[in-house]
Amino acid sequence: MPTPVTLIPGDGIGPSIADATVRVLEAAGADIEWDVQVAGQAGVAQHGDPIPEPTLASIRRTKLALKGPLETPVGKGFRSVNVALRKEFDLYANVRPAQSLVHSKRHYDDIDLVLVRENTEGLYVGIEHYVPSGGDPQAAAESVALITRSGSERILRYAFEYAVRHGRKKVTIVHKANILKFSQGLFLDVGRQIAKEYEGRVAMDERIIDAMAMNLVMDPNRFDVIVTTNMFGDILSDLISGLVGGLGLAPGANIGTNAAIFEAVHGTAPDIAGKDIANPGALILAACMMLEHMQQPDIAKRVRDAFVAQIQDGEVRTRDLGGTAGTTEFTDALVARIRG
Ligand code: NAD
Repeated sequence: MPTPVTLIPGDGIGPSIADATVRVLEAAGADIEWDVQVAGQAGVAQHGDPIPEPTLASIRRTKLALKGPLETPVGKGFRSVNVALRKEFDLYANVRPAQSLVHSKRHYDDIDLVLVRENTEGLYVGIEHYVPSGGDPQAAAESVALITRSGSERILRYAFEYAVRHGRKKVTIVHKANILKFSQGLFLDVGRQIAKEYEGRVAMDERIIDAMAMNLVMDPNRFDVIVTTNMFGDILSDLISGLVGGLGLAPGANIGTNAAIFEAVHGTAPDIAGKDIANPGALILAACMMLEHMQQPDIAKRVRDAFVAQIQDGEVRTRDLGGTAGTTEFTDALVARIRG
């Protein structure tokens, strides 16, 4: 029985890279029944809603989605369609692997690390207000950084379990507990407790966020799995994609208890939309993460190996990686390579 998966092609370059990804997965023999749904601008165009009910119902049913980038329509009552989806399905873990796949003087050649970002708490809970004073209604502004013990436990446990499942050796807990003694202190305390349960199996290491930023730039190879709170994770995840070659190769997964959504980290790339030049790599790598999550690791490996071989051969690369191939040409070559 094929596994049902919701496919949201998305906006801008989304439909073209989603089409490429579906072709590649089919060529590799992935056992998937796609349920194609819309969101973002495409959702507004079709249903008058950026997160239409049929799309939500589909994800509730399949519990799995592969999502292209979405454009959030202005003035629809929320900050981002992506954030709203994370909230709706309580997708608490944002997982971003960074692996050196292309060799270039500007990037590291030997990075293989995974960042696990808490996705629902911290400074991004959206609890903010102005504080009036001396006749100025906006004399100050306050934002609450909410950290809960249960939220910390589930993300830290996820990171250690991820390390065990993927044969990784070390989890680095990144924090600012030296200054934010309560909120960041709670996160670190919980991390230390959970680390004890994994002693002998997964090593634990702690870093303060500012030192971590420097360490990642100067000596990234010493890290393996990194786990941190929402805003630090947001910043570090873009930093690590920059270390290995940029957004065209950066996949991400949003994992919850009842659903998981896999996506490319990049946006809709309006500057190149409709030109058949986008790199479908990030979404293809996100689909590989999804295949592993679906217990189809052999298919994931077949796709990833062929993809890596193709970009390392260097003959057929998209422009963002210094080649000349368009999306279709790149995908045709990858499909041919997979079919052998
Ligand atoms: P972007 O990632 O769309 O583009 C940044 C730059 O990277 C552009 O020059 C673009 O051409 C290039 N680029 C991105 N993906 C590429 C690919 N696959 N191949 C080749 N080049 C690629 O970022 P932006 O311009 O800041 O955002 C555009 C829109 O995307 C906005 O509406 C934003 O809200 C949305 N967005 C969505 C998501 C998401 O759905 N996950 C993430 C980020 C931004």
